[in-house]
Amino acid sequence: MANELGNYKTCVSARSTDKEILKCSQDGGIVTQLFAFALEEGIIDGAIVAGPGEEPWRPQPMVAMSKDELLAARGTKYNISPNVSFIKEATRSFGLDKVGIVGTPCQMQAIRKGMLYPFGWRDVPDKIALALGIFCMENFPYQSIVQLVEDHAGQKLENVSKMNIGKGKFWVYTDRGAVVDLPLKVTHKYEQPGCHVCLDYVANLADISTGSVGSPDGWSTVFVRNAKGETVWTKAVAAGCFETKPIEQVKPGLELVTKLANEKITKNQKTIAGRASFGAGKALRNPYI
Ligand SMILES: Cc1cc2nc3c(=O)[nH]c(=O)nc-3n(C[C@H](O)[C@H](O)[C@H](O)COP(=O)(O)OP(=O)(O)OC[C@H]3O[C@@H](n4cnc5c(N)ncnc54)[C@H](O)[C@@H]3O)c2cc1C
Ligand code: SF4
Repeated sequence: MANELGNYKTCVSARSTDKEILKCSQDGGIVTQLFAFALEEGIIDGAIVAGPGEEPWRPQPMVAMSKDELLAARGTKYNISPNVSFIKEATRSFGLDKVGIVGTPCQMQAIRKGMLYPFGWRDVPDKIALALGIFCMENFPYQSIVQLVEDHAGQKLENVSKMNIGKGKFWVYTDRGAVVDLPLKVTHKYEQPGCHVCLDYVANLADISTGSVGSPDGWSTVFVRNAKGETVWTKAVAAGCFETKPIEQVKPGLELVTKLANEKITKNQKTIAGRASFGAGKALRNPYI
């Protein structure tokens, strides 16, 4: 267990055994499958996911209370879905007592902070029953996704069936079978500046976290992080929800996850240091006087 990967009990490579879930999931369908199982077993009574919004690929947090609703929210949207802001709504308007929630590492941090310091979250913290984290190197404002897909990749956003960042490129897939890849040097300038001071790649504070990196195509790397995560994961595997392989037996394996986590932390620590010293040593002066 290394620090850049956070605390975890086990790490495996896995994919859902449900073909319908796998079909349009981003990677191994871990998030959708785990929530579907947790709903079925009464571990949660609803899950906050990134549902379709009014504009194509602009997610809107929604409460999924059935497998169909979970399926409608599959896949990665590379811009913010403010899932944490929906927690209170989920417990009040939807009456959920056992909330599942998926989010990026920063969103997992916000949830844990809210559980420790529940300002404005009366009666909410005890209701977070399953927090699933997704790995995250960077995110983009919605307008940047429009620019990247429509201007750089030359595709209409409403025709896009999937986006993915992997193997050093930003990939855009369309309903009609076109595949366009953009080098990451094109996408870098569009990233959210806030992501450049983020020091968590693998959602250290989730109950279970997952991402594609480290596992073969169509599979996911899964970190089971705490006792709650272990209980849910063990039950789901025993129920036949997942095929699993020891992470040591897959390529590229944990070595790549560790490398990327370290690269993110080292790069962003430099940005933090740079911002901390920004303007230091120079008196603030009005140049016009
Ligand atoms: C901004 C971003 C950057 C990422 N970067 C990496 C990376 O560098 N390396 C890596 O290995 N993985 C990364 N991922 C995670 C990866 O793309 C998959 O989301 C993850 O592997 C889960 O796949 P799955 O097949 O298990 O999920 P699925 O079964 O397809 O379900 C995905 C779930 O995530 C929810 N979701 C989708 N978009 C968002 C969002 N923006 N915010 C919150 N929830 C969302 C969906 O509603 C759905 O419930 C990133 C994800 C995001 C959102
Ligand atoms: S890089 Fe960090 S701050 Fe940016 S979306 Fe991902 S987890 Fe959040």
